[in-house]
Amino acid sequence: MSSRRNFIGATAALPLIATKASAAKLKTPDYFKDLGIRPFINAAGTYTMLTASLMSQETMDAMEYASKHFVHLTKLQDAVGARIANLLGAEAAMVSSGAAGAMMVGTAGCITGTDNKAILQLPDVTGLKSEVLVQKSHRYGYDHAVRACGVKMVEIETEEDFHQKAGPQTAMALFFNDNEPKGKIDAKGWVRLGKQHKVPTFNDASADALPVERLSLYNKMGFDLVTFSGGKCICAPQSSGILMGRKDLIEAARLNTSPYSDTVGRGLKVNKEEMLGLLVALENYLKRDHAAEAREWDRRVDLITKAAKKMPSVTSKVDVPEIANHTPHLKLSWDQSKIKISPLDVKKQLLEGEPSIEVTPSTNKEELVVTVWMLKPGEAEIVARRIAEVLKAATA
Ligand SMILES: *Cc1c(COP(=O)(O)O)cnc(C)c1O
Repeated sequence: MSSRRNFIGATAALPLIATKASAAKLKTPDYFKDLGIRPFINAAGTYTMLTASLMSQETMDAMEYASKHFVHLTKLQDAVGARIANLLGAEAAMVSSGAAGAMMVGTAGCITGTDNKAILQLPDVTGLKSEVLVQKSHRYGYDHAVRACGVKMVEIETEEDFHQKAGPQTAMALFFNDNEPKGKIDAKGWVRLGKQHKVPTFNDASADALPVERLSLYNKMGFDLVTFSGGKCICAPQSSGILMGRKDLIEAARLNTSPYSDTVGRGLKVNKEEMLGLLVALENYLKRDHAAEAREWDRRVDLITKAAKKMPSVTSKVDVPEIANHTPHLKLSWDQSKIKISPLDVKKQLLEGEPSIEVTPSTNKEELVVTVWMLKPGEAEIVARRIAEVLKAATA
């Protein structure tokens, strides 16, 4: 009886809830303000710490759509993975929890294959393939995600080293795309050596989805696994990523993560909203007019440069890194005896000002560094005005 009454009570309450919900739709509460969080204009770039990128309305709509239906998660991963693989020219693909998540489950897959006993055993690699080859110059913070599988990183420098160190104990050979120029073995060489020794090669190209052709370049080159962040310039959910490559390895990687409970990667959960959100964001990214976008970035850089140069002694240069974050980085500097403020203090004042603006963390004693690719329409004008104001106030 009482449960029946509760049921009726709950039903009676429904219209009220619905009214509240539609009222909420009319006016979204200012959640961040309520929490004492002040959003900022992002003239920094796709930094995780700064929440990296914004999703398009279409991506948000896809996520909202997904949120309203129950589906079988592995079937959705099959279908989305197949679509991504097809779009990017890979044999197979999956949606991961960011590129770091892809590195972990990809490594796990290389160690275990589809052997259930090995899958249960990780991160203990006793008796399993337990080493990952990496060039000394390609060591970096993100390889923690690889080490989390229990493997030992074996540092090498030359092709000769690769021949010597590769063996039945080698699970994978990791390549950090951004550091290609720093190593003695280039990407093509890495692939060739991997094939020669039957060691799967993994390319971490997380921040390198620009120019857009790069998204399929490393598959074509022959890497066995490749990852890109979803939440950087693809503007997919911040917690999503792409892992793609050999079909057997993608299958093995998937067996090492959610939704399977007893796995090393169970904590790297990806739900339907991220899967669909990533797919729709990727499709949009591939369709976008990249040339027009690049022209718009140039226009913004120009605008900010001109505003800053109205102050005495300001000089500028624009760098576009060849690999990783391949977008204009505007570097402003000035004679600090004429404009009596350091770039770091300008950064601080921009952040504390109204509206708040973040510039890149690489701003240093000599240069204020600004990127414009994460700005929303109209924000370049604000950034230009604020930089000019801060510099002007410090001008003797
Ligand atoms: C950003 C980045 C990662 C991590 O990517 P997430 O999608 O944030 O997990 C890994 N490697 C490199 C080189 C990166 O730039």
